[in-house]
Amino acid sequence: MLERKLTRRGLLATGVVTAAGWATAACGAALGSSTTRISAASRPAAAAFVPSATLDAARPVPPSVTPAAAVAPATPSSPTPTAPRPVEDPGAVAAAHAGQRPVAWGMAMPGIITGFAPQGRQMALTFDACGGPGNDEMNDLLINYLIAQRIPATLFLNRRWIDADPARAASLAASPLFEIGNHGNRHCPLSVTGRAAYGIRGTGSAREAVDEVWENQQRLIALTGRAPRFFRPGTAHYDDVAVRIVHELGVTPVGFDINADAGATFNAAQVQVEMAKATPGAISIAHMHRPKSGTGPGMLVALPRLRSAGYEFVHLP
Ligand SMILES: [Zn+2]
Repeated sequence: MLERKLTRRGLLATGVVTAAGWATAACGAALGSSTTRISAASRPAAAAFVPSATLDAARPVPPSVTPAAAVAPATPSSPTPTAPRPVEDPGAVAAAHAGQRPVAWGMAMPGIITGFAPQGRQMALTFDACGGPGNDEMNDLLINYLIAQRIPATLFLNRRWIDADPARAASLAASPLFEIGNHGNRHCPLSVTGRAAYGIRGTGSAREAVDEVWENQQRLIALTGRAPRFFRPGTAHYDDVAVRIVHELGVTPVGFDINADAGATFNAAQVQVEMAKATPGAISIAHMHRPKSGTGPGMLVALPRLRSAGYEFVHLP
């Protein structure tokens, strides 16, 4: 797994419009707390992740789950006091991080995937569906193009966007082109202190951060029959405690390398400019819930150009 430093290409130059685009997809009302457990059969394989020594010196490495373990039946016995904490126990994860103070904040830090080790000229497209007022539509131009051109992508679906039209979400999940990621329950920045991004208040505790991930994880399991492997919070911001929480819930935090549409505020030409900056192993972020944005027309020009330049679009490994 290749950890790449976020270049913030486009972010610094367009910070104002970026904030405007994400601010409209605010963190919504609470829908409940997580008390359910995920079955072993639907548990994802956790990515190998060794926390930074400087950020996590006092804590043990989170337990990892091998693919073989992920499909093994649940054991009826209770864990011993010395056994690793089971990744499927959200209450235990929340309790383990209660009261911890974060030391890092942002869209890139150890533990967040912002790129991958490519096999040749590969890159991964990701599209967020943020949901909430004014953000519940689907960009049919974009999605239909991906389907027609057999272009794979990871779609990060927020709970509110799913609930606006569950059949639509299920239909996307049924396509082998699309891997479904978790874009949070209320679309909050993932914090344990309520820290805000673009004026959107983050989750306020370890418990709220767990719920933000876990509630939508359960919604997606119910909808698709499988647990998402990847998570990206609303605004894509995390603190370091929250990053550890995501890993311990058996999900991998995903960031991005190319900010293709700045919260669906770019026009088509701007989208093309950003996508043209792709390098092998890049992860792009754009948004699929605003059909009137420049995202669709921009991608319809940028993606064939990238293919002509030898790029292959792949799912995140
Ligand atoms: Zn979003």
